[in-house]
Amino acid sequence: MKLCDFCNQPDPRPAWLYATGAFTVMLTPTVGAISDSSWLACGDCRRLIDADDREGLAQRYAAHSKVPLSVDRLTVLAAEMQGHFFKHRLPKAPTLIEIL
Ligand SMILES: [Zn+2]
Repeated sequence: MKLCDFCNQPDPRPAWLYATGAFTVMLTPTVGAISDSSWLACGDCRRLIDADDREGLAQRYAAHSKVPLSVDRLTVLAAEMQGHFFKHRLPKAPTLIEIL
């Protein structure tokens, strides 16, 4: 199963791949998460990304999250993580892919 990297919707259709450079995000001072070369987006998240609606994108994550934190906290965390995407996104149009 694949998940939208922005809102965690399972097996999104349509699914779009946004190219990014590889980067590491430090989750704690000693634990990092590596992002490889692309982020997967569902159609709804693609519309928000292409409109540069970063607040709407973070709110969408918070609205769909099952993490037991407040919506406000989830929105802040999503905006921070998604900010790395916008920082490392390559200037290329997304690629439509088929989720089998
Ligand atoms: Zn999504």
